[in-house]
Amino acid sequence: MHGPLQDSHGRIMRDLRVSVTDRCNFRCLYCLPETEEAADFYRTRYDGLRHPISPKISATPIHREWKPKAEILSFEEITRVVRIAVALGIEKVRVTGGEPLLRQGVEKLIGSLSKIPGVQDLAMTTNGARFGPQAAALKQAGLNRVSFSMDSLNRDNFRRMTGRDGLAGVLDGIRLARELGFHPVKVNAVIIRGMNDHEIPDLVRFAVAQDLSLRFIEFMPLDSSRAWQKGLVVSGREILELLRGEFELQPVDASANPSETARRWRLAGGRGEVGIIAPVSEPFCGHCNRLRLTADGKLRTCLFSLDEQDLKPLLRGGASDDDLAALLQERVRNKEAGHKIGQADFVQPQRSMSCIGG
Ligand code: SAM
Ligand code: SF4
Repeated sequence: MHGPLQDSHGRIMRDLRVSVTDRCNFRCLYCLPETEEAADFYRTRYDGLRHPISPKISATPIHREWKPKAEILSFEEITRVVRIAVALGIEKVRVTGGEPLLRQGVEKLIGSLSKIPGVQDLAMTTNGARFGPQAAALKQAGLNRVSFSMDSLNRDNFRRMTGRDGLAGVLDGIRLARELGFHPVKVNAVIIRGMNDHEIPDLVRFAVAQDLSLRFIEFMPLDSSRAWQKGLVVSGREILELLRGEFELQPVDASANPSETARRWRLAGGRGEVGIIAPVSEPFCGHCNRLRLTADGKLRTCLFSLDEQDLKPLLRGGASDDDLAALLQERVRNKEAGHKIGQADFVQPQRSMSCIGG
């Protein structure tokens, strides 16, 4: 028998993010920019950033190959890992990517995961472009919650940020999710200085009008082009000051869940809520209870892990559930204390957010 997934810092893992594909139909400039120009979006536009504080532009080309199909875990393999992890105390499972709705038959996987006894919350993060046609099947298969990524309410700015003319599709997806009774419907917006920080109040008004849980997320150094600059991060504190200047905020008590990544507020007299996720300026690693499984079967104990455990050789080599459970426990025991963004020895991981699973 195996006990819970506990690390050497006393943290117990409850949350597993499962990436089902490294592919994506969007090209968000903070994640998987399509061109050098998109990756270098800030250089010509913002004088203050022409001489960045911490240049980290790599020579690695932006274009990269998708993982071959044979390296991607099958639904059966994913379900097996999740079942073992849940037996070890995981309660929340989030299906992500890449763009999870590009994985054919993903509703079948949702169906299998929702039947695992002990999965208390089954969620998905999507860019929303393909949500419409699959929404009802996902709901029926047992998906509890859905988070959409939407960084802008302006069609042109949305296109600048995601590389695609996709705003209308995402708005449709959000509407449909509400109609189907997903609640709360979450919306994530990565805020980048000079790109969409001016849209923060509009995004809040939209969330209130549509009864959404909006999350503003600090830009993290996980973009494939390594164009991240500290100066582009709009800190959680700045966002909060801006919100306080425009809205009457009432804090939501999150003391019952210290692993919660967002600080949250309701708006006086309004519906929905607003949260700020500030991993760069206010790291919350001390309470982290998350693990990640990449589409190609690598276990990551931190978004910023520099090494990862390949589960494929065990999954495909006849290992028992007990062998896999023991490996999960060993890896979790060595989970990093926290990320090192801002420290001299910080190294950006090889994989971009799209290849890890956010
Ligand atoms: N494609 C789906 C989507 O965009 O919702 C799921 C995968 S995406 C990698 C998951 C989340 O990571 C999205 O909400 C996205 O905005 C966020 N993300 C991607 N790159 C990021 C970065 N460099 N910093 C902060 N958040 C990022
Ligand atoms: Fe694709 Fe999501 Fe990354 Fe955007 S954030 S490029 S939608 S994986």
